[in-house]
Amino acid sequence: MSPYVIALPILAIVAALLGALLNSPSRIGAAGERLVARWLAKNLPPEEYRIVNDLILPHRDRTTQIDHVVLSRFGIAVIETKTMSGWIFGDGTEGRWTQVIYGRKYRMQNPLHQNALHVRALCRLLGIPAANVDSFVVFMGSARPKTAMPPAVAWGARALGQRIRARREPVFTDAQLAAFEARLRAPDLASTRATQRAHVLGVKATLKDRAEAVQRCPECGAPLVQRMPRSGGTGFLGCSTFPKCRGTRPLAPPPVRPTVRPAAGADTPPADADSHGTILPNP
Ligand SMILES: [Zn+2]
Repeated sequence: MSPYVIALPILAIVAALLGALLNSPSRIGAAGERLVARWLAKNLPPEEYRIVNDLILPHRDRTTQIDHVVLSRFGIAVIETKTMSGWIFGDGTEGRWTQVIYGRKYRMQNPLHQNALHVRALCRLLGIPAANVDSFVVFMGSARPKTAMPPAVAWGARALGQRIRARREPVFTDAQLAAFEARLRAPDLASTRATQRAHVLGVKATLKDRAEAVQRCPECGAPLVQRMPRSGGTGFLGCSTFPKCRGTRPLAPPPVRPTVRPAAGADTPPADADSHGTILPNP
């Protein structure tokens, strides 16, 4: 057999693996964030705006990751970047939005809710009122809205830039801005290998807490045990303190997944991921 005949299938496998890697949700998400960071740096006048990208902020006993913070005398913009395709259905208040792509539906966390948590973490860190902070979600990629969206959602970097520059009322002094920037650029908030690892561990711990909550009695929090109804049929989970407590749950609780996304692949773009490929749970 010619060496080429052996090499060809191996090459095909390597190419397929490489393709999957390049199309992975985390890679696509990180590429969208880089585009936004570059656009802001190029188009917002540096004498008026300072940009800090990719921050990991303390939040309760864990951490939360912020894509971009834009500081100016006119206020602070906290920006969450979504790199997606397809049609997006949602509004300002719903907890879940829907992405429709190639006729299939995927549920996602309302990114405005996700970013509201980022705003709270930033306000607490800097000791400033939320009134001086704007929350923006910017969609990069080919995704388009199919429902009326609140103005805090921008489609493309240019629209985001326009929204940021719309604020013209000074609310911060230069001294305050310098202090904010110094705090945000401190090494403990930078997205390093160590802080990222801690962040991902925190996300996993939150998901585990939720999974464990599902294993407990919804009425009193005691452990659940599997029970069979006397009449036969399918079993259920009942409170271990029965008959003191009559709390139950159906068997096989639905999997605890905050965001459903399709598998990454050549013709199924990912629904969403944050820059590190982890899915962030609701606050
Ligand atoms: Zn109970």
